[in-house]
Amino acid sequence: MLNPSLSLDLVRIKSGVSNCVQPILIESREVYELRSLGYSVFTYAWVVDPITLKPSNRISTYVCKDCEKSLRILRRIEKLECEINLRNLRRMIELEGKLLGYPECCIRKFSRLKVDGKNPEKKTIVECIERGVFEDLLRSYPEPNQIKSLFTTNFYPCSLDCKRANEIGERLVEYDRNYRFKIVISIINLMTPVFKIYKFKPKTEFGKLVFSFVESLGELKLKAKKIVEDFSRDPVRFEIDFLRNVMHV
Ligand SMILES: [Zn+2]
Repeated sequence: MLNPSLSLDLVRIKSGVSNCVQPILIESREVYELRSLGYSVFTYAWVVDPITLKPSNRISTYVCKDCEKSLRILRRIEKLECEINLRNLRRMIELEGKLLGYPECCIRKFSRLKVDGKNPEKKTIVECIERGVFEDLLRSYPEPNQIKSLFTTNFYPCSLDCKRANEIGERLVEYDRNYRFKIVISIINLMTPVFKIYKFKPKTEFGKLVFSFVESLGELKLKAKKIVEDFSRDPVRFEIDFLRNVMHV
């Protein structure tokens, strides 16, 4: 049996949203099972991490349905890695987004902000604070709130209201109702840095926003801290245990 995080990742392939996913955990017996189900499993070693834009020893594991299609994209990334400049980095980010089936509008916005030295992750966090996404989640936890655009961890929509990202999230939850818990994990992943920043009380605009947000949480603050601390300790373990619990598997 596949771990619950991996089996929900496969929903993105089964529902036709993506040809390829990047699971957080695959054990060797699961590789065997995935292959017998007709999926390919392979790794890619990055020379430069397109997310941190730094030299990297990151190794990504991908699961995909049409292996050739994914390999064609990775071969293009490989070529771009031979000559690192901002243009090629941007292209690499876009290709990885394409590989993972993310909407084009979100990929473009993310890659532009990245190569311009802006911080798309921070932008999404600010949007979540301003729109009350974290607060709503804390109230409904472990059930998700209404936001569907944050359909997977490490995906940053061009806006929380992005029509395409929301449609994907809705399609995934429609395909498998348990997928809604993946969205919960993705929101917790965004909420975690907020509490790290809160501890250091930086005097920046963002620091002030984070501080007033956490202070405004009232009785939800303790609940949030507990979730975030558990998640930070071991995000992979947290996700697997959380999904086992809520999915009763
Ligand atoms: Zn978008």
